[in-house]
Amino acid sequence: MSVRTTCPYCGVGCGLLARMTDGVAHVRGDPGHPANRGALCSKGSALGDTVGLQGRLLRPQMHGVDVEWDVALDAVAAGFRGFIEDHGPDSVAFYVSGQLLTEDYYVANKLMKGFIGSANIDTNSRLCMSSAVSAHKRAFGEDLVPTDYEDLELADLIVLVGSNLAWCHPVLHQRILKAKELRPSMRVVVIDPRRTPTCDMADLHLPLRSGTDVTLFNGLLSWLARHQVVDQAFVETHTRGAAQALLVAENTAGDVGAVARSCGLDPKTLQNFYEWFGSTERVVTLFSQGVNQSSSGTDKANSIINAHLLTGRIGRAGSGPFSITGQPNAMGGREVGGLANMLAAHMELGNPEHRRIVQEFWAAPRIAERPGLKAVDLFEAMHRGQIKAVWIMGTNPAVSLPNADRAREALRRCELVVVSDCVVQTDTTALADILLPAAAWGEKEGAVTNSDRHISRQRSFLPVPTTVRPDWWMICQVAQRLGFQDGFSYSTVAEIFDEHVRLSAAANDGARAFHLGGLIGLGEQGYAGLTPTQWPIATSGGRAAPRLFADGRFYHADGRARLVATRPRPPKFALDQEYPLVLNTGRIRDQWHTMTRSGRSPRLASHLAEPYVDMHAADALLFGTRDGTLVRIITRWGRMVARLRTSGEIARGAIFVPIHWSGPNSSDARVGALVGPGVDPVSGEPEFKNTPARVEPFVVNWYGFALARGPLSLAALSWWAGAEGGSFRSYEVAGRSVPHNWSLWARSLMRAESSADWIDYEDVNSGTYRAACLRDDRLESCLFVGSQPQLPSRSWLASLFDKPRLTASERARVLASRPQDSFPDAGATVCACFGVGRNAIEAAIADGCDDLSSLGHRLRAGTNCGSCVPELRGLLNAYRHGPVGGERPGLPDDRVEAEPRGRVSPP
Ligand code: SF4
Repeated sequence: MSVRTTCPYCGVGCGLLARMTDGVAHVRGDPGHPANRGALCSKGSALGDTVGLQGRLLRPQMHGVDVEWDVALDAVAAGFRGFIEDHGPDSVAFYVSGQLLTEDYYVANKLMKGFIGSANIDTNSRLCMSSAVSAHKRAFGEDLVPTDYEDLELADLIVLVGSNLAWCHPVLHQRILKAKELRPSMRVVVIDPRRTPTCDMADLHLPLRSGTDVTLFNGLLSWLARHQVVDQAFVETHTRGAAQALLVAENTAGDVGAVARSCGLDPKTLQNFYEWFGSTERVVTLFSQGVNQSSSGTDKANSIINAHLLTGRIGRAGSGPFSITGQPNAMGGREVGGLANMLAAHMELGNPEHRRIVQEFWAAPRIAERPGLKAVDLFEAMHRGQIKAVWIMGTNPAVSLPNADRAREALRRCELVVVSDCVVQTDTTALADILLPAAAWGEKEGAVTNSDRHISRQRSFLPVPTTVRPDWWMICQVAQRLGFQDGFSYSTVAEIFDEHVRLSAAANDGARAFHLGGLIGLGEQGYAGLTPTQWPIATSGGRAAPRLFADGRFYHADGRARLVATRPRPPKFALDQEYPLVLNTGRIRDQWHTMTRSGRSPRLASHLAEPYVDMHAADALLFGTRDGTLVRIITRWGRMVARLRTSGEIARGAIFVPIHWSGPNSSDARVGALVGPGVDPVSGEPEFKNTPARVEPFVVNWYGFALARGPLSLAALSWWAGAEGGSFRSYEVAGRSVPHNWSLWARSLMRAESSADWIDYEDVNSGTYRAACLRDDRLESCLFVGSQPQLPSRSWLASLFDKPRLTASERARVLASRPQDSFPDAGATVCACFGVGRNAIEAAIADGCDDLSSLGHRLRAGTNCGSCVPELRGLLNAYRHGPVGGERPGLPDDRVEAEPRGRVSPP
């Protein structure tokens, strides 16, 4: 029987039906969940591939040695107690995650702020949406997302700002696509420096210069006022600050031509956008990390909100500013006060009355009185020795923080590092003194809140390994050992949830919008059966209004919203001759964060299998590099190596690098190490989208790839990146030194025994070397090396790893990498659900499939989750405008040489 649960990835918060059958996890979309109505993206569809105990942290460890739970928990409590007694409560910290469940978050925040008495608890959500939180609080008086996903279908104009929705929130992208198909008059505008796959559905793309959003939206505010597109009654009755905001907008962006020049846009395109916004009543402006991850992220978000307040387009169907969160429970974290500058239940640390309410409710011995350290400052304080002990829960800051090498050094310096995680090998667990094994998705129970305020249950459908525990249990155990038995004696997660909803209602006569009073007293059964519920829900049996502010009431003391005067500011760090490129970072379609879960799925790995940097082809030439080669990316803070691709998505002067690669899956590709430490002064959110950088060739003398069932000796390589292949792992590799004896070197790399069944081939003149290792006629590993990045196709070789033994013909052809008969080389994966490659799609298009439906009919591509639809459209468009095969990404199976070179020796 299937269990109703939710996806552990993005903030869309899709509902799932999950079950185990014969040891295999099956996951499909829940048709009854309001977020996705049965749809899933490629990541959600592949969740079944990612469960299992391989790579799991299964026992508590101290300094690498397995210990019993009591020993580990005693050590955590003793360590924290010692530092608190000697150096005060502010000498310790928690660094938590938007992937924790609400109940985990709740008790962590309660322990730190109410019992330890410090506000030093911050979260990786600081890195993705804290600017939106600050902007909401400035504009509305409380951190409130006013909209519902349905507004995306009801709008006549959707403005996507800094959001690659097609890759980062694919199910919402699908919902908009369907709505647009039904109602072609609906318009979509994308505002993004990159031409991302999301632009495929755009009626207008504004490729603004990175960091100029405030100028663009101040220009809009000024244009709206000059053209009398102002809801005067709404502004006068329900807002304050309009005059000052308009004055600043007029002074900084009063001329459309000047705004266009400043933003690097075509003036007609900009004018077009302003006119569309001005003439459309139902407008949703959806914004995401492209807005938030900036040293002026809060102002950017407020400049967007200003336009909605001036026109009164908020609180109505199909209208409003809409911040989309990156993580599954970023919203839940905000609700419990999981950020260092919040209290709990949307109450404020700086408000004495709020502190009193919370302290009395918790019966806490003390309450934090001032904000704690935000993520970047927290690790800085650790670096200088001010933070003596930290507990990191479910996140990997050694990879994900800006200036990540310094964060790693901070963890090395910290006297006590505790990490609770479900994965044993990450860059952060490697630095832990104490490791606590946490229950994983599918094993644990709790609640999450998605981007449109729906609270849903995550439920277990897998057995919990006997030696792992949920995070809330560990936190409560440590709290009890610190002497706080009374506040942390929960026996079930439902009890914690009940306390959380009661706190939301405490002394809340409507002064705070966050109100879950209607969920009080659910009991174990009610909690077990809780269906997706949108807040606010103040009374039992009540139904939340899908959108906030319909009555024009906001949550500043005077009940009015604020237009905030926003002055454009340049990014924190300026370009110069040494670092002339803007480094932008972000997600790719089929991976999640540092790949500890999504990286286990072979089909997800097959989309983009190695770290890359995307660059304009003309800039690539200028920097002496070319598509498919390796390059080094350098900033003032760090350096990394990645494959160069010239996708055509990026403007001159900028580069884009994905965030997902880390120590366990690549030799040198932690882009966080390159990102500058600049943060927004209000929110503390780092500027991940704008770091000055340069690129130079990473000179190697050979390129190669290896497929292997077992581990390789990777230290022998100048560069490598690994990906899951199912029955093998694939490695892209490269080297500077050329071995004197390739055969000996390759045997060492592939850890082949001297008695191994070994076949190889070398052509010294062309720099080609190929080898394969078999055991009992089963392929164990193979290595292909050449002097250029173009190498043989991996498709057929990969298929051989599924065979218990090779036939004589397969064995004879293995070094040719293709069988005697023709074997279709599918190319780099486009459709992850059905494993359809680019070459197969191009062939079908050339054979007459001229639209999505015929491609779907022929290949099934794009017929399941739809995440690949933008790429399918791109290939169809490319064919219409010229032969397929123009500018293309530098992916492993795209860099395929035409024919095998040299003669392949028979074994
Ligand atoms: S859009 Fe994809 S990643 Fe996001 S919640 Fe839904 S299935 Fe998960």
